[in-house]
Formats: sequence, structure tokens, C-alpha cells
Amino acid sequence: SKEVVLIGRSNVGKSTLFWELTGKKVPIGKRPGITQYPFKTKVGNIFYVDMPGYGFMFRTTKADQEKTKDLIVHYFEEHAREILLAVQVIDAASFLDIADRWEGRGEVPMEIELWEFLDDLGLDSVLAANKMDRIAKQDRDGALDLICERLGMLPPWTQWQDRVAPISAKRGQIEPLRAVISRKVAVA
Ligand code: GDP
Repeated sequence: SKEVVLIGRSNVGKSTLFWELTGKKVPIGKRPGITQYPFKTKVGNIFYVDMPGYGFMFRTTKADQEKTKDLIVHYFEEHAREILLAVQVIDAASFLDIADRWEGRGEVPMEIELWEFLDDLGLDSVLAANKMDRIAKQDRDGALDLICERLGMLPPWTQWQDRVAPISAKRGQIEPLRAVISRKVAVA
């Protein structure tokens, strides 16, 4: 069976999106990450897979973060043939600030590293730009253009609608992402 795999920094709304897509709650462990992951559930013919959230959290060490990243990278390498689509969830309202902070420290933001890694692996991936409700309506196109640019996609973002899906998981507004997934499922 084919898989749709969700990745994303902690707190971007990945569990909320997983619930919207599958109707299943991701089990929450005492310590985020590692043991209970990856969590899989089947919807129709497709497995939805939730990977641990990466990035800084309360009491997360640099070593823990590296472990999480390795787990994600190895999963994609080992399951590449089954994976129909990778969904990288971001908080569209804070992504640019976070990327600036990393780049200010001379580091490549994890999102950008993973985005390029998925491309290099030849996997189809889509950016789920979540929490769009937190951005004022008139600013949304501009924000999406900047996010695209950061990931190496020339603006306007509207020419990348197979790769960028603006959503609001909490409000159940995930149609652009459903459309991308449906197209992949249809050709699978
Ligand atoms: P995860 O750590 O990525 O799994 O994130 P969660 O799904 O637990 O969500 C983290 C927080 O973001 C929660 O308070 C959610 O209610 C909130 N959240 C999730 N999706 C959205 C959204 O589309 N808009 C807004 N404003 N908040 C959201």
C-alpha cells in the first residue's frame, strides 16, 4: 500500500491536520517523539503516516533533535518506494521568522534541509502552509511568495499549487491539500 507521510516542526498543527485527514488522533507520549513513531493509519487504500515533530521544544536537546531528524531521514530512505507523497507542514505565520533566526546563526533551517532532501531523493512533496488564518487576508499572497522563495521556488506562489497548499487545519480548511493528495492518489 502507498503512503502519505506528514512531517513538521513541533506545534505547527501537524496532529490537527492528521486528524482532519484521517479522523484519527495521534497518540501523545510523555516525551514527544521517538518511541510511538511513526504512527500509521489506513484511509481507503492509503496509509497516512505521522512522523515525530522536529525542532526545539521544552527540554529538547540538540542530540534529541538530531535523533529525530535521523529517524525521519532514514524512514524516507527506507520507504521511498511506498511513499506517494511527503507533506511538510509549516506554521505559515512564523516560518519566515524562524528561518531568519536559523540563517542568522549561519544554519540551514530544518524545513529547508528536509525539503531539499526530499527533492534529492526524488520523492513528491508538498508544503502544507498551515495557520493561514493567522495571516491577514491582504498579506497572504505576499507571505506565500516569500515562503516559496525561501524554498527555491520563484514567485508568484500561485504557479506552485501542486507543491504549496495554504490551509487552516484548525478550521477544517484543507481543500488545497486534499486536492494535491487526490491527484497523486489518482495516478498511483
Ligand atoms: P503539532 O505539534 O504540530 O502536532 O501541533 P498541534 O496539532 O498539536 O497544534 C498546535 C497548536 O496549533 C494547537 O493549539 C492547535 O489548536 C493550533 N493550530 C493547529 N492548526 C491551526 C490553524 O490552522 N490555525 C491556528 N490559528 N491554529 C492552529
